[in-house]
Amino acid sequence: MTTPRTVTVRTIDQGDVTMTCPPWCDGHADDTLPVHLVDVAHVGRHQEIKLRGVLLWTTALVQYPYATDDARHDVRVYAEQDWHADSYTAAGLVELADTLAVHAERLRTLADRLPELQEETGQ
Ligand SMILES: [Zn+2]
Repeated sequence: MTTPRTVTVRTIDQGDVTMTCPPWCDGHADDTLPVHLVDVAHVGRHQEIKLRGVLLWTTALVQYPYATDDARHDVRVYAEQDWHADSYTAAGLVELADTLAVHAERLRTLADRLPELQEETGQ
């Protein structure tokens, strides 16, 4: 068992706040600008979904421990779609579909793990 990791973040409204990070948190960059306490987030490692080197989606675990909306206390998966447009041949379209299918399975696996991660986070 590892010792829980703590981090101190600068906030606009509450000054420095020290909190315990869940095991999946990828840390808090020292050079980020201070935010309001409600916007402080634990963020997991970013996972990129690419096709032929082009970024399609980025996902990461995220949790807002001080959010005023209790639902944001839950561990969730942040998903961001990058702008991408292209035209595909039949083979290219199959490649796109295969890429999305592989990543869809990864997302389903992550969705299955969310309750476990929520439990580990203690929320
Ligand atoms: Zn954290």
